[in-house]
Amino acid sequence: MNLVLMGLPGAGKGTQAERIVEQYGIPHISTGDMFRAAMKEGTELGLQAKSFMDKGELVPDEVTIGIVRDRLSKEDCQKGFLLDGFPRTVPQADALENLLVDLNKKIDFVINITVDMSILMERLTGRRICKECGSTYHLVFNPPTKEGVCDRCGGELYQRADDNAETVQNRLDVNIKQQEPLLTFYETKGYLRTIDGQQDIQKVFADIEQLLGGLA
Ligand SMILES: [Zn+2]
Repeated sequence: MNLVLMGLPGAGKGTQAERIVEQYGIPHISTGDMFRAAMKEGTELGLQAKSFMDKGELVPDEVTIGIVRDRLSKEDCQKGFLLDGFPRTVPQADALENLLVDLNKKIDFVINITVDMSILMERLTGRRICKECGSTYHLVFNPPTKEGVCDRCGGELYQRADDNAETVQNRLDVNIKQQEPLLTFYETKGYLRTIDGQQDIQKVFADIEQLLGGLA
């Protein structure tokens, strides 16, 4: 069961990744974790990645792909894997195809969790934080009893700059632009499967289970 998970921020990717990993016993491989592990192990590629990150530079594809190759060669990937955050670009996706051929593996599905923009905006801009005690609320999922006031201490609630509509919209736009060519690439390959992320969490996972049922 070799999977790539895609979805915009706020689509619920993290929650579904946790469930997939728990249900099917395959490792969740995110780019960040993979880099951290390679650095901790002190592999040559890990050290190379570190030298770029320490300088605040992007890790070049050849290093990233080498780290992915090492990770996917490990014992725990024999039953499969769930890639999350990689590939990000078509050249990376192409390189992944080639390295999987070398490893005698192939991608089964690229799962794209989709949610309408208006709902993503609502999810991503709804967070409010108490100025006094730091308690967090969400206007939709965990609203305070009285608007703008902390239930716990009566403090004033505010919205972090990262959560404001303009910043969130920009972040979504960047992600959409980045994802589009990748979605086309996987569509052409026949791997792409779309899952409706607007349903409740249980139902989203049920749809994923149904998709994966034939593989397990
Ligand atoms: Zn408070």
